[in-house]
Amino acid sequence: MKNPRLTCDTVWPQIASQWRKKQIPKGPTLKPMSRKLQSSCAVPAVRFRRNLLHWFDGHKRDLPWRKNPSPYHTWISEIMLQQTRVSAVLGYYERFMHRFPTVQKLAAARQSSVLAAWSGLGYYRRARMLHAAAKVVAYERSGRFPATAAEQRALPGIGPYTSAAIASIAFGEPVAAVDGNVERLLQRLFGKRINGGELWRVAQDLLSRTRPGDFNQAMMELGATLCLPRRPRCHLCPISSMCVTRGELGHARHPIRQSRRDIRYALDWRKESVFLVKRDKAAALMPGMWELPEMSANASGDPCLTIRHSITVTDYRVHVIRCELPAGAAGRWVQNSQITRLPLTGLTRKILRAAKVI
Ligand code: SF4
Repeated sequence: MKNPRLTCDTVWPQIASQWRKKQIPKGPTLKPMSRKLQSSCAVPAVRFRRNLLHWFDGHKRDLPWRKNPSPYHTWISEIMLQQTRVSAVLGYYERFMHRFPTVQKLAAARQSSVLAAWSGLGYYRRARMLHAAAKVVAYERSGRFPATAAEQRALPGIGPYTSAAIASIAFGEPVAAVDGNVERLLQRLFGKRINGGELWRVAQDLLSRTRPGDFNQAMMELGATLCLPRRPRCHLCPISSMCVTRGELGHARHPIRQSRRDIRYALDWRKESVFLVKRDKAAALMPGMWELPEMSANASGDPCLTIRHSITVTDYRVHVIRCELPAGAAGRWVQNSQITRLPLTGLTRKILRAAKVI
């Protein structure tokens, strides 16, 4: 039953109205496979599924979200795993679950607490969307997570891949999930670049109808552990006898060139407190998060610390200047013991760790 004092309308009216108006977005368009592709897609589906699932049963990694699978556990893990490696997610997942063990706890939390728990994982829009979706599930759906991929796509932050992964793993819906790993694997399997709707179509044709969740996880697992971007380990691959490429497919795209930039931050650390500033709420990147004050490129002072940090296509050389900021500077003194409660940017967390502040 809904809590009459705590509904989505009282807590988050914009999200509630947007969600109600929202049309359920379409998933990937599954056009019939082209004749040309059909003729080259001669993978024996039954043998493919059998080999893949047999390998998965014996080799799947022992991951925390696989221990007590539930829609909530699967959802959180899938959002964390977007654009992030499993090894980077493990510690965050355990701490996040400890702090927000249910969708109701997550929905009732302040956004700053959710961002603080996410701090270091990057792509903070994911955390904001996750929080918004938790409010819809907790207050609009009495805590029941939608069971189909189509319904799940109406929730903030859930797209075609994530909905297919959750629906198949948590609810057994036979829908194929295609992420970057699966895309690479399928292209090597068929020995050609397949994109868009055709990629989803071949994945859907191969999918096991009896174990769709395990099949999708096995495809992702194979892509992440054996069918690696560089030097795939084909000699261990359970489907190598069916794979056209058995190795890397030639590069079609030029690698993106990283640009380089030097930036400087002021570290004013006195009496167990550090001076931090909050990013503008309207900032395009990481709005409302806390960081050290940025200094101009020509500010004086020798760095006490220089670290490297990459964000998307830019490699930063970050110089940290230990200094005393002038009285009246915009920002706040935060005690060391309180710092990790704030939603810090990933870079700030990295600097404070390197400087042994936290
Ligand atoms: S045989 Fe090699 S290239 Fe083909 S799917 Fe397996 S690991 Fe990937």
